Amino acid sequence: MPNSAHRAIAVLEQVLSRVVVFTQNVDGLHRKAGSSDLIEIHGNLQELICTACDHGETVDDLAGRELPPRCPVCGSVLRPNVVLFGEALPAGAMTRFADALEEGIDMVFTIGTSGVFPYIAEPVVWAARAGIPTVEINPVETRLTRFVEYHLPLGAAEAMTAIMAALDRHGLQGIPRFQG
Ligand SMILES: [Zn+2]
Repeated sequence: MPNSAHRAIAVLEQVLSRVVVFTQNVDGLHRKAGSSDLIEIHGNLQELICTACDHGETVDDLAGRELPPRCPVCGSVLRPNVVLFGEALPAGAMTRFADALEEGIDMVFTIGTSGVFPYIAEPVVWAARAGIPTVEINPVETRLTRFVEYHLPLGAAEAMTAIMAALDRHGLQGIPRFQG
C-alpha cells in the first residue's frame, strides 16, 4: 500500500504546475497513490514481458496464475519488466527524464535514496551546482548530503506529512486537505 509520502507527492500534482516523479522503486506504489508523471527508471513489477516475443501485459498480482507465468502468445516464460544489474536502462524513461530536466526544474527533492546509482545521484548534484534548490529527505546522511542545500534527517512519510501540514498552514492556494 502507498504510504503518506507516496500520497503527499501525488496530491502535490493538484497544486503545482508539474510534479515529475523519477523513481528507482519497482513496487508501483507511486502509480497506485495517483502520481501520473512517473518515470520508473528500474521498471516495475506489475508489467510482465515475454522472454521470447513482444508480448507484454499488466497485472495487479499473480494470484491464480500458473508460476512462472507463461506467455499467452508463444508459451515462453514471462518476466517482470524490471531492470536487473548489468541490464540497460529503458531508453524511453531516460529520454523523458532528460526532457524534463531540459524544460526546467524549480526544485529537486531526493527522498529516501542512498544515491548509489549514478543516474539517480547525478541529477541531484547537477541541480545543486546549477543553483536549483535541493532537498534531501533521509534519516541518515548519504553520499548526496554534502551536495544538497537542505538535508531533512527524517523518514519520508514523516517529512512529507510535515511539509503538507506547513503548506496548509501557509494557505497555499488550492491545497487539498491531507491526512497523513
Ligand atoms: Zn511470448
